[in-house]
Amino acid sequence: MKSYRKILYFNTKTRRAFINITPQVEECLAESGIKEGLLLCNAMHITASVFINDDEPGLHSDFEAFLEKLAPEKPYDQYAHNGFEDNADAHLKRTIMGREVVVAVTNGKLDFGPWEQIFYGEFDGKRTKKVLVKIIGE
Ligand code: ZN
Repeated sequence: MKSYRKILYFNTKTRRAFINITPQVEECLAESGIKEGLLLCNAMHITASVFINDDEPGLHSDFEAFLEKLAPEKPYDQYAHNGFEDNADAHLKRTIMGREVVVAVTNGKLDFGPWEQIFYGEFDGKRTKKVLVKIIGE
């Protein structure tokens, strides 16, 4: 069995962002040489997500509004976590959007359903953060 590991780095200019990372993940898959197996992609931080959905700007603004409704950033003092930090909302948003995705690898390609794309969801940005790509197979 082959095994491949790579870290991708992201540093967003804004506190929150959604980035389509499908091209970088596809590069990893090509580099791995794996044709049949499983690909795991996860955020290595507890205030960021990796998730699969549609690359449609209206939907991304709907996600932003939805998450702000459930876990508004402000006022900061509404959260017990915000004693030394101001990122309680980011932890909650990350929990809602998830930590990781697993995608089947078939014939050397990501075996996606229609419109599926992989996104990095940043909820407490403006610093360098890591995403792990792990691929196992043959
Ligand atoms: Zn925190």
